Amino acid sequence: MKKRIAILGSTGSIGTQALEVISQNQDIFEVEVLTANNNVDILIQQAKAFQPNVVVIANQEKYSFVSEALKDEPIKVYAGADALSQVVQMDTVDLVLTAMVGYSGLLPTYNAIKAKKNIALANKETMVVAGEIITKAAIENKVEILPVDSEHSAIFQCLVGEFMNPIEKIYLTCSGGPFRGKSEKELQNVTVDKALNHPNWDMGAKITIDSATLMNKGFEMMEACWLFGLPASKIEVIIHPQSIIHSIVQFEDGSMKAQMGLPDMKLPIQYALGFPQRIKNDFPRFNFFDYPRLDFEPPNTKIFRNLALSFEAMKMGGNMPCILNAANEIVVEAFLNRKIAFLQMPEIIEKAMQKAAFIKKPTLDDLIQSNSETRGITTLLIENKN
Ligand code: MG
Repeated sequence: MKKRIAILGSTGSIGTQALEVISQNQDIFEVEVLTANNNVDILIQQAKAFQPNVVVIANQEKYSFVSEALKDEPIKVYAGADALSQVVQMDTVDLVLTAMVGYSGLLPTYNAIKAKKNIALANKETMVVAGEIITKAAIENKVEILPVDSEHSAIFQCLVGEFMNPIEKIYLTCSGGPFRGKSEKELQNVTVDKALNHPNWDMGAKITIDSATLMNKGFEMMEACWLFGLPASKIEVIIHPQSIIHSIVQFEDGSMKAQMGLPDMKLPIQYALGFPQRIKNDFPRFNFFDYPRLDFEPPNTKIFRNLALSFEAMKMGGNMPCILNAANEIVVEAFLNRKIAFLQMPEIIEKAMQKAAFIKKPTLDDLIQSNSETRGITTLLIENKN
């Protein structure tokens, strides 16, 4: 029987690459649900090509456009956030790929877990905001969370057959982004276009900015803590500009396992969708002589403050990672809209972390409340700045 997949966020970078993987393996996978936030043209195209049972457009204002465009197809069309949370519970869904951007992934992922659906997790913010609650719900509902993030896929692959062996340390590799090695002075006036120009990975705008500020790596550290049950002190970030080694697990005997390959998100996507099976493909293969050397260096957390703030937030625990994430979403949007400068992003996040109310043991409702409180605080901080 084919694996029936719901893709939340099908028009983004991960979503479209997942559909490429699926279209090359139609004997293994079937698309059951496609959802998008706003991008109706691509959603309609995808729906016609993949014939899912259901399509959801999150933005309700665009419902009539989508349903009109698909009126001759045997496809149900729904709209709104509630529909998103409901479709993940459908009996006909075997696996939910969460590929939406940011905080919006939290509730649909939580509801999918509650409905006992296995998750291919591409939305790391879900783990940042509510790692403890999500992890607990996954255990209670016997749900597998399969990482799609390339680093976490690497760690997961290194751990196959090792579940009895404790991890001594994880080396989380990081390309360093477009501004690796730059001084504070050089970063003062970098443009949005430069920040959007990632050297190795082709991704959406939000994650590309997060990669330039190293917030993405801070989020990945937290994601790794929750996925693999480790404290932040056991995770070390290593800059590896070539992005060939996707991460390394060190065991108690000092032995290290690394997973490597060309930087292509289709690989970890395919591994998560197909798990535990590896699927034959014709993606380009690694050639050693294209990469005669692999380099490693420590990250500069004085210049890339977001990485240090992430470790602080994780050590404080409670709702602090949720506050960090909410503040980050607002500053990234402000930077993309050219309202603040690159180095103002960590400054404002740090202030928001000081201002927002700290809760040691937050419930899901507390986190929802804290998310909106922090967005308000951060928006005000930005307005006062200019
Ligand atoms: Mg990653």
